[in-house]
Amino acid sequence: MADPDLAGLVECHECGLFLRARTPPPGGKAKCPRCGATLYRNTGRGVDHAIALNITGLVLFAIANIFPFMSFKLEGREQISTLITGVMEFLDQGLWPLAVLVFAVTILIPFGRLVGTLCVLIPVRRGRRPRYLPTLFRIIEVMHPWAMMEVFLLGVLVAYVKLIDLATLELGVALYAFTALIFILAAAESSIEPREIWTALGDQGLRKLPDRHAQDRVLGCHACGLVLDLSGSTQAHAACPRCGAHMHHRKPDSLNRTWALVITAFILYIPANLFPVMTVISFGKGEPDTILSGVKAFIEADMWPLALLVFFASVTVPMVKLWGLVFLLISVQRKSSWRLKDRTFLFRIIESIGRWSMIDIFMISILIALVKLGSIATIEPGIGATSFAGVVVITMIASMMFDPRLMWDAVEKKGDRSARSAA
Ligand SMILES: [Zn+2]
Ligand SMILES: [Zn+2]
Repeated sequence: MADPDLAGLVECHECGLFLRARTPPPGGKAKCPRCGATLYRNTGRGVDHAIALNITGLVLFAIANIFPFMSFKLEGREQISTLITGVMEFLDQGLWPLAVLVFAVTILIPFGRLVGTLCVLIPVRRGRRPRYLPTLFRIIEVMHPWAMMEVFLLGVLVAYVKLIDLATLELGVALYAFTALIFILAAAESSIEPREIWTALGDQGLRKLPDRHAQDRVLGCHACGLVLDLSGSTQAHAACPRCGAHMHHRKPDSLNRTWALVITAFILYIPANLFPVMTVISFGKGEPDTILSGVKAFIEADMWPLALLVFFASVTVPMVKLWGLVFLLISVQRKSSWRLKDRTFLFRIIESIGRWSMIDIFMISILIALVKLGSIATIEPGIGATSFAGVVVITMIASMMFDPRLMWDAVEKKGDRSARSAA
């Protein structure tokens, strides 16, 4: 029923340009000619490949969760931790927001993505299309930035280097499985292109060729990318016929929501830096550490690469994100047409770097899991860590709420006016 002329009309999710899709060569990418965003890839691999990788991933996930992750030996005492030990420690200390967050981003969401992807790919391979598939696939796609296993691994590395001079550390089977799982998941992800899955899940809904001058009547679905011509429809917020998401011309109330979240994050950033993120207690004496004193300790120990890594993740990244969003918000409100392509690029960076700020939180979750030898040495998490995790989560949501297409709308409006005055 789809018009062959219309099949393959796509909207660029970053600048809002509607264009015709051409399939790139295997291994290639289709890029937006206006803003440079990647629209989709031709992975050159089939669904079978992705199914095999995801099943391997499930086996590795089980090993990573059952066996010991790391062990810590000091003065004849040994502390063995598993993947979940850090989460349990946060709970014991009453810091349940941190327990929930670390559990979600390192265990629950990666597991959900593995199982969910298999639940989508297996029916697609068999040519079946149960009703729950589009909703499930939409949820899997939204969860993508919240699976933070690779960031966790970097946190493990920082914790390891911090402890290696103090005690004997042994790496467990689970850590090796966890590392392998990250590579398997990356390979699985690069072997499927969401657009291909969406096409397999149904391309219904394309009605007629959108008139070039009625672009505001044409809507692209945020979730699955389906392009619809709603010029005959009276519904302002129709549900997408393919994936069921609400369709909006632009993300609803984008500027206000982003501002509110950015301001909240700025406020939370103050206690995040003032209060200790953890306290090292050895022989009864406690030494509280803030984010910056942690960086200072690395410098004093001549561990420059780690000092730079932690400083970059915990100080530079949150600041670049927050000030970057402020700059983008103001530029939209002033309807600026200055360097649109560069501003879209800035947004792309802001969106992708945010999750790396979690390194410090993950490092703390490893340290508190390993170092609990009573009066000899114990590390306790501090309230600053909760505030800092709040900053990371809120800035991630803020960049999701911001609609980069608003920046390009300013130019389009100017273009319309000059075209009309020329006519
Ligand atoms: Zn674009
Ligand atoms: Zn949709």
